Amino acid sequence: MEELQPTKKIWFDGKFVPWDEAKVHVLTHGLHYGYAIFEGIRANSTPKGPAIFRLKEHIKRLMAGAKAYRMQIPYTEDQLIQGCLNLVKENGLNDCYVRPIVFSSYGEMGVNAGKNKITGAIAAWEWGSYLGDEGMEKGIRCTVSSWARIDPRTLPPHAKCSANYANSILAKMDALSAGYDEAIMLTVGGLVAEGSGENIFRVKDGILSTPTKTAGVLEGITRDSVIQIAKDNGIPFREEDFIREDMFTADELFFCGTAANVTPIREVDNRVIGNGKFPVTRKIQQTYLDAIHGKIAKYEPWLSYASTPAIYTSEKA
Ligand code: PMP
Repeated sequence: MEELQPTKKIWFDGKFVPWDEAKVHVLTHGLHYGYAIFEGIRANSTPKGPAIFRLKEHIKRLMAGAKAYRMQIPYTEDQLIQGCLNLVKENGLNDCYVRPIVFSSYGEMGVNAGKNKITGAIAAWEWGSYLGDEGMEKGIRCTVSSWARIDPRTLPPHAKCSANYANSILAKMDALSAGYDEAIMLTVGGLVAEGSGENIFRVKDGILSTPTKTAGVLEGITRDSVIQIAKDNGIPFREEDFIREDMFTADELFFCGTAANVTPIREVDNRVIGNGKFPVTRKIQQTYLDAIHGKIAKYEPWLSYASTPAIYTSEKA
């Protein structure tokens, strides 16, 4: 994994501060109990300059996660949207990852610290494809994790709460130490849920499917984009839960996510998926990459140009 490369500024409670000065106290409540909600967003180079992909949807998901977790964010959606756009511009970035986070600050300790100030920060830096360029090209090797995906009775799975990611960390570390590239997590009931940081899709007999939201998956924005792309390209699609065995017998499997883009899965637990070719995945991958880079006019409403933040309003998104 490549090391984080600092950029110039970080949006910190509404102000731009130098990268090295965006600091918090070690007794920050959110650090101790994982009480933080974040987003993972990408800006991509387009012929009209850097454009953030589906920014409004990402910020809406942040707000929804905060609601589930009873967190009062002291910023409006528009302030966070503007913050992301201005930050990309301020740092002179093109292709980058944008990470907004809101968290419970220093103040009271103990599990319930509802009176603590909620701090907001947004950072942006250059970050290549999470599962690697080679993975995107040739596909990756996965294993089914012995860790189940968090159950909806344990934590709200649709929220990108930092605490939820202890589950992903365990699954990912175990998969890597066993020599695989990524983990696939099942629900406690044995349905396929998702990767440690990606949604999963299956192709069988020409039909594309992905687990339902009630399987406790994160409602991925790339997942939603892939579904739209499939529909627009006449690829039959249904939201449908499936089990481990359905992965072994799939014609194609792939992961998708903001960090991972669209990455084919070549093997699951040492079984080669299909015949090792991914024609449907490839079509979706290419269309997705073209869409995020502003090459498909139809998908332009998904883009917010960082070079013109002043004219951006949520109504126009
Ligand atoms: N599942 C999990 C657990 C994730 O962390 C992510 C990344 N945010 C995804 C799925 C994919 O979501 P998105 O397409 O919105 O990045």
